[in-house]
Amino acid sequence: MVAVPVSTAAAASETAISLKGVTKRYGGPDGVLALDNIAATIADREFVSLIGPSGCGKSTLLRVIGGLTSFDGEHARIFGEPIKGPSLSVGVVFQTANLLPWLDVTANLRLGLEIRGNVPADVETRLQGMLATLGLQDFARRHPHELSGGMRQRVAIGQALMMNPRILLMDEPFGALDALTRDRLNVELLRIWQAEQKTVVLVTHSIAEAIFLSDRVLVMSERPGRILEEVHINLPRPRDPRSIRESAEFGHYVVQLGDLMGVV
Ligand code: ADP
Repeated sequence: MVAVPVSTAAAASETAISLKGVTKRYGGPDGVLALDNIAATIADREFVSLIGPSGCGKSTLLRVIGGLTSFDGEHARIFGEPIKGPSLSVGVVFQTANLLPWLDVTANLRLGLEIRGNVPADVETRLQGMLATLGLQDFARRHPHELSGGMRQRVAIGQALMMNPRILLMDEPFGALDALTRDRLNVELLRIWQAEQKTVVLVTHSIAEAIFLSDRVLVMSERPGRILEEVHINLPRPRDPRSIRESAEFGHYVVQLGDLMGVV
């Protein structure tokens, strides 16, 4: 039997995110030009990583897509709708999990739904499913201080997923974790992404993380941020970290992206 590489991006046809001529300047006409004429199209269920030098505008681009900051542009759309502010279709995960310390894992997972006054009738079933997806069934009644950094980050991802967004934006979600935990969470994230069928845009400093996870990597220039290059990662899925990292193709992508980033 021939193994067929599963590319969710190839299977998807709908456009999730569409940006054209997007520019962002902080602090008025003489302020910092963070993004300059960004154009990008991201397909539904595609996994895209943004990499580039520190300060090049990666977080700003994520905030534009999340409707969390103003911008200029010819157009910026989520599933065909102009971005005018935060959308229910978009969930965001930041570098530090902003969990409420006095609530247990289950209550933290429910929090977004409670705040929006939108707790569905099947919330208990969804909570159980989410705890299983996150691998946190045994920690449902634990509080944040009783969890490891990796577990807290998993809860933060779960918080975003409980809102059932179609798009998940992740800003260096594993940046503060040790290398081993980060590797494990990369594998978890791929599993969750495959199970939940979301569009993911991930900001990362790690070339290896970007290659391992993504369908496509967008490389940004020094500020003002522009998209310098897009690199399609044609590695078969599901991806096993060890065999992927030992493969010649992985090594080629590391060199290609390192070249583009000016690090090799
Ligand atoms: P990255 O995520 O790639 O590190 P950012 O998007 O955080 O980059 O920042 C891009 C540029 O915009 C940087 O020069 C940063 O100093 C500037 N910047 C970011 N946020 C603000 C802000 N709220 N006000 C003014 N300048 C900002």
